[in-house]
Amino acid sequence: MELEFFGAAGEVTGSCHILRVAGRTILLDCGMIQGSKRAESRNRDPFPFSAKDLDAVVLSHAHLDHSGRLPLLVRRGFRGPIHTHFATRDLTKVLLADAAHLGVRDVERRNRRRRRAGKPLLTPLFELQDAQRAVAQMATHRYHEAIQVTPEVTVVFQDAGHIMGYAMSQRRRRRTPSAVQRRSWPVRHTDTARPRVASRH
Ligand SMILES: [Zn+2]
Repeated sequence: MELEFFGAAGEVTGSCHILRVAGRTILLDCGMIQGSKRAESRNRDPFPFSAKDLDAVVLSHAHLDHSGRLPLLVRRGFRGPIHTHFATRDLTKVLLADAAHLGVRDVERRNRRRRRAGKPLLTPLFELQDAQRAVAQMATHRYHEAIQVTPEVTVVFQDAGHIMGYAMSQRRRRRTPSAVQRRSWPVRHTDTARPRVASRH
């Protein structure tokens, strides 16, 4: 089992972690990097993994620092399921549509200035149809439901407060017919606190 942290480690936003188990790859959250213009420009960087090759995504909650790059992930080729709580799907649908609208308007405004200055035009990070496709790929679940994410990995969402639908994910990996390994993730934090890895076991 390998766990790699690509965001919200040493910083608060941009939650994005890769879990590799038995040859399968699961992405835990795909959040937007928020803060200064310079920090936010990193949202346009290539993902440090292949979106096409992911087997599944598990989304902990709706806030954009956890969900905001899902439309980009879809735009770059991810076609698998995004497992999440049903309330998170409903909230994410609204938040991503709003983010797409604001992003398009921001680029239009900046391009008016860039056109006058003869500079190359920008394109939006993602558009409404990308957000809608990401939401359409969501597989929704309730708390305490055993979710078979891959043949080797089962996830159970547990209510963690913070926002409606926020779920701590307890992963169970069957190692042998009689042994089950349990870990908890994701990096659990408030939106203003330094992140820390939660562990109950
Ligand atoms: Zn949050």
